[in-house]
Amino acid sequence: KPIVIITIGMAGAGKSTFVQRINSYLHSLEPSSPPYILNLDPAVTNVPFEANIDIRDTINYHEVMKQYNLGPNGGILTALNLFTTKFDQVLGLVEKRAETVDYVIMDTPGQIEIFTWSASGAIITDAVAGTFPTVVAYIIDTPRTTAPATFMSNMLYACSILYKTKLPFILVFNKTDVQPHDFALEWMHDFEAFQEALATHRGTTDDEGEPTYMNSLMNSMSLVLDEFYKHLTAVGVSSMTGAGIKEFFDAVEASRTEYETEYIPELERAR
Ligand code: GDP
Repeated sequence: KPIVIITIGMAGAGKSTFVQRINSYLHSLEPSSPPYILNLDPAVTNVPFEANIDIRDTINYHEVMKQYNLGPNGGILTALNLFTTKFDQVLGLVEKRAETVDYVIMDTPGQIEIFTWSASGAIITDAVAGTFPTVVAYIIDTPRTTAPATFMSNMLYACSILYKTKLPFILVFNKTDVQPHDFALEWMHDFEAFQEALATHRGTTDDEGEPTYMNSLMNSMSLVLDEFYKHLTAVGVSSMTGAGIKEFFDAVEASRTEYETEYIPELERAR
């Protein structure tokens, strides 16, 4: 059975570049293992890879905006809703290829919350994960997340997606050619190192020497995150150079096991 990689990330994190990179990596393997690609972003103008199924083939996002008198976000959401009504057919097409394909890559809208917080996003995710082993790859713009507060809000966002989907989850620190991700690994593994970084970044106390509200809030939140980190894998990649892509696929293989041992039993308990 193929494994489905759902790629999620803030606009600009390098999601398209990443999908292009893992696509060419899979093509270059010996023997090659071309993935089946689903594009769910109706608003993307040019994708640097050929998708097997593309939301844009069936739904014209500009027409949707015009017809329903919507702005850009409403247009993307409505396009995704329309596509979701046909998603059983999409799954059918993927299932037909299940014998010959090892990886299915699902690219989601660049406006991250449209996928992660909509009914359609949840329906698509559940349908896919109920049919195939599935893993979420959360793409992070590493150079833009070096400030402790930014790092923490990014991790909290990832955490909320993890708890919503309950799927195996890989944090992909992208752009390591510009900014190595060792600081992130250190903060994730050593809670005190992160608190220290927070302290040096902001100053820990107010004029009276009391911890500021913001700092005590951040300290408690970092305790929540400590628990979250135990449930996920982090890899550093450069979608530009291809560094770390093999390690990413090692993490994907490990997720397959996690899917069988954790997601499936959870799903059966819920039924
Ligand atoms: P998306 O909005 O998340 O799909 O992001 P894009 O794939 O369009 O990338 C956003 C910008 O980041 C582009 O200018 C890319 O060239 C750049 N980028 C993406 N991945 C990398 C990387 O690994 N290293 C570097 N240096 N730049 C990258």
